[in-house]
Amino acid sequence: MSRRSDLYTQGLKLLLQQRSSCGLALRSSSALISNGSRDFNYSRQGRVPPTSDVSSRFKSHLRLGRFWNTQWPAVGQCHRAFSATSSSQSSASVEEKLKGPIDKILIANRGEIACRVIKTAKRLGIKTVAVYSDADRFSMHVKSADEAVHIGPAPASLSYLSAEKILAAARSTNAKAIHPGYGFLSENVHFAESCKKEGIRFIGPPSTAIHAMGDKSVSKKLMEAAGVAVVPGYHGDDQDIDLLQSEARRIGYPVLIKATQGGGGKGMRIVLEENEFLDCLSSAQREAMAAFGDSRVLIEKYLTRPRHIEVQIFGDMHGNVVHLFERDCSVQRRHQKIIEEAPAPGISEEFRQQIGQAAVNAAKAVGYESAGTVEFIVDTLTGKFYFMEMNTRLQVEHPITEMVTGQDLVEWQILVANGEPLPLQQDQLQISGHAFEARIYAENVPRGFLPAAGTLHHYNPPPVSSTVRVETGVGEGDSVSVYYDPMIAKLVAWGHDRSAALVKLHDCLSKFQIAGLPTNIPFLKALAKHPAFVAGEVGTHFIDQYREELLPSASNTGHESSRAAVSIHLDAKAARQAAAIAAVGMCLTSSLGLQVLKTGVEGWGGWNSGSGFRLNHSYSRLMTMEWKSDTLENSSVPIKLSTTYDRNANFTVEVQGEEPLRLTVTGQSPGDRCRDLRLDVDGQSTNVSLAQYFQNGINSVHLWQEDQHYHFTVPWLSFEREESDDEQGSDKSHREQTYSTTAIGSVTAPMAGRVVKVLVENGARVKKGEPLLVLEAMKMEHVVRAPVEGLVDGAHLVVGQQVNDNMVLLQIKERRQNLPDEDDDDSE
Ligand code: ADP
Ligand code: ADP
Ligand code: MG
Repeated sequence: MSRRSDLYTQGLKLLLQQRSSCGLALRSSSALISNGSRDFNYSRQGRVPPTSDVSSRFKSHLRLGRFWNTQWPAVGQCHRAFSATSSSQSSASVEEKLKGPIDKILIANRGEIACRVIKTAKRLGIKTVAVYSDADRFSMHVKSADEAVHIGPAPASLSYLSAEKILAAARSTNAKAIHPGYGFLSENVHFAESCKKEGIRFIGPPSTAIHAMGDKSVSKKLMEAAGVAVVPGYHGDDQDIDLLQSEARRIGYPVLIKATQGGGGKGMRIVLEENEFLDCLSSAQREAMAAFGDSRVLIEKYLTRPRHIEVQIFGDMHGNVVHLFERDCSVQRRHQKIIEEAPAPGISEEFRQQIGQAAVNAAKAVGYESAGTVEFIVDTLTGKFYFMEMNTRLQVEHPITEMVTGQDLVEWQILVANGEPLPLQQDQLQISGHAFEARIYAENVPRGFLPAAGTLHHYNPPPVSSTVRVETGVGEGDSVSVYYDPMIAKLVAWGHDRSAALVKLHDCLSKFQIAGLPTNIPFLKALAKHPAFVAGEVGTHFIDQYREELLPSASNTGHESSRAAVSIHLDAKAARQAAAIAAVGMCLTSSLGLQVLKTGVEGWGGWNSGSGFRLNHSYSRLMTMEWKSDTLENSSVPIKLSTTYDRNANFTVEVQGEEPLRLTVTGQSPGDRCRDLRLDVDGQSTNVSLAQYFQNGINSVHLWQEDQHYHFTVPWLSFEREESDDEQGSDKSHREQTYSTTAIGSVTAPMAGRVVKVLVENGARVKKGEPLLVLEAMKMEHVVRAPVEGLVDGAHLVVGQQVNDNMVLLQIKERRQNLPDEDDDDSE
C-alpha cells in the first residue's frame, strides 16, 4: 500500500515540478481556462483515492500541466501562440464558432487515413478539406476531398507537421473541425489547444488527456496511481547517465530503453547485458531526438515472451467510457505491428473483461473523450497484463474493431466532437466473427524490412466487399515517396471465425497485385499460412522465432538449413514454369503483338522488327528471363526458354536447364492492355495476371498465378530470333554490361536515407560485421556493417549527406599479403 501511495505522490510531485518549471505558461493557461487554477495539496494524500477521485484531481492538474512536455518545438512558440490567440480572438466569437453540428472537416493528414476519414464524412454529408504537400499534389486524398489546400514542401516538418499552416488552411476554408488522423499532429497537445482557441473543433481527446498519455513516463505514473499495473521500471525525470545505468542494473537485465515521447517503435533498444547499455542508450537517445525532438528515455523490464494486446476505448463529453474489445497486435517487426487481429486468439472471457475494464479505468483516469487505445503487454509466462501506453488517437488498426463490432469509429468520433453521447453502452456492444488486418508496406523484407520507395507501376488490389476492406491512399502510377510512412495499404478481412478470416486474408493477399517496388506481401502470405500463426500462437517474438521458415535467407540456404534450401529449390523450379507461362502471356498481350503474328504483318510490335514471320509457319523465339526471388536478396536465376507458336494458336515452351521443362499453352489474346488471362497449360485451365513495365533500363514482367507471384526481368532486346543474326551479338554484350554485378567488397546503401554517423576513415582496417556508418530513414536508424574484413577505401561521406538506395558508400579492399599501405595510394 505504501509503495502505491508513494508512487502516487511522486506522480503529483512530478506534475507540480513541471508547473513550477514553466511559470509563465502556467499563468497564461490559468487565466484562460476556467477552473484551471484550482490547486491541489498533494501532501494530504495518505491513501490511494478511488479512480474517479483520481480522475477529477488529475484532470485539474493536467489542465495546468499541459504546456510542458508537448512535442511542440520551442517554448518561445508556446508563448507566441498564447498571446496571439488571447488578443486576437474574443472568447464570444470562439464560443459561437464551437456551436452547431460539424458540417465541414479539414483532415490534417495524408494517405490512407485521410481517405478513410473522408469516406465517413461523405457518408454523413459533411464537406471535406484535404491538405497536401508538394509531394502529394496529385494524391488520392487530394482528389477525394471537396476542397484541397497546399501547405508546403514535401518534408513533413514544413507541411503536415506545421500547425500554423494547417490552422490557416482551416480558417481560409471555414472548416468547423479538424481530424488529425494518426501520426503527424494527432497527439500534439499544443495543436489540439490551438484548434480550440481558434474555435475549431479538434476531433480527438481533450489536450489534457493527450498530455497525460503522450509521455510514456508521466502516463505510467498516472496509471500506477489509478491502480492499473505497469511494467516494473524507471520512469523518472532525472536523465543522468550513471543513474539510468544503475536503474537498469536494479531492474535487472534484459531491460528495454524507450523514448518517453516514443511511438511507432522508434527510440527503443533492448539491452541484454550491462556492457551494451551505454551504446544502446546513446543510440536510443539519438533516434528519439530525431523522431520526437526529445531525447528523454525510460527504462523497463524487458519481458521475454510477451503478447501485445490493446483495447479500443471510447469516451464522450458526458463522462461515459466504453471499450470496444481488444486487438492482438503481437506480430511485429522492429517493434512495429504488421498484422493485427480482433478478437485476441486464445484468451478467456474473464481475461477479456478484466483487460477491457483496466482500459476503461485508464481512460477515465485522464478524463478521456473520443477514440483511444490502451496498449497492454501480456506476460505469457504468468498471464498478467501491464499497461504499456495509451495512444490518444484513432489507431492504424481500428478497422478490425469496426469489422467485429459493426461500428464506424470515425462516425463515433464526429458524434462525440458534436457533444453527443456515445451511441452505444457497454452492454450493447458485442463481438461478431473475427477480423485480420495486414499492413502492406513498400519494404525490402530480405534486407531486414528496410523501407522502400518507388513507383506503383501496377496496382490491383483484391475486390472489396462486405467482408474485405482495402484502405489505401494510392493507386496505379502513384509513388511511395521517401518522405512519409511507406505503408501502401491496409488489407482487412472478416470471417465468421478466426480460421475463416485467415483463409480469406490469405486469398486476398494472393490477389493483391503490386509491381514496381518491393513489398512485404510474400512475407505476409507466408505468415498467414504459418502453422503456428494458424494455431493462434502469436507473440511479439513470432518473426524472430520462425525467421528461418518465414524468411529463407542466403546465409541459411547453403549448408545451415536444408529446409530453406529445399524451399528455394522448389521456388526456382516453380519459377521456371511460371516463366514459361509469362512468356506466352507476353506473346498474347499486345506488347508482343500477337495480332501481328496472326495477321502475318512483319514485326514484333515494339519489341523487335524484321521477324521474318511467315503465315502458316510455326514460329520460335529464344528468350532469357531472370527470376528475381521475393524472399532472397540479390538472387536472380537466369531462365532460358524457347517459345514456339503453331498454326493452331498453341504455344510450346521449352525451358532449358538441368531439368528441362516442356509445356503446351493455349490462350486467346485478350486484346489490348488486358492483364488477366485464362490459359490452358498442359490441358489444365488457369487464371493468370500479367504486369509489365520498364524501369531503369530494365524490363520487368510480373506474373500472378494461383497463390504465387513471380517477378522476372527480361532484357529489353532479349527476344532472339531463331535464326541468329549479327545485331543480336552486340545487344548481348550490352546486356551483359547492364547486368554486371558490383565488385565484391563494395558497401552499398541498403536503403535511401541520410548519413547520421561515419564510424570509419579511409585506410582503417575493419573486421567482418564491424559498424561502418549509421544511416537514418523514416526516422529509423540503420547500422551499415563491413561485409568482409579489409581496408576501408573511397569513403567520402559526410554526416547529413543523403544517399540513394544501392549507392556505393565505400569499398572494402582485400588486405594484401604485404605492403598494406599501398591501398591508400589508390584512393585518390
Ligand atoms: P498504431 O499504434 O496506430 O498501430 P504504429 O505503432 O505503427 O501505429 O505507429 C505509431 C505512429 O507512428 C502512427 O501514428 C504512425 O503514423 C506513425 N509512424 C509509423 N511509422 C512511421 C514513419 N516511418 N514515419 C513517420 N511516422 C510513422
Ligand atoms: P511505441 O510507442 O513505439 O508503440 P510501445 O511502448 O507501445 O512503443 O512498445 C512497442 C512494442 O515494443 C510493443 O508492442 C512490444 O512488442 C514491445 N515492448 C514494449 N515494452 C516491452 C517490454 N517491457 N518487454 C518486451 N517487449 C516490449
Ligand atoms: Mg505502442
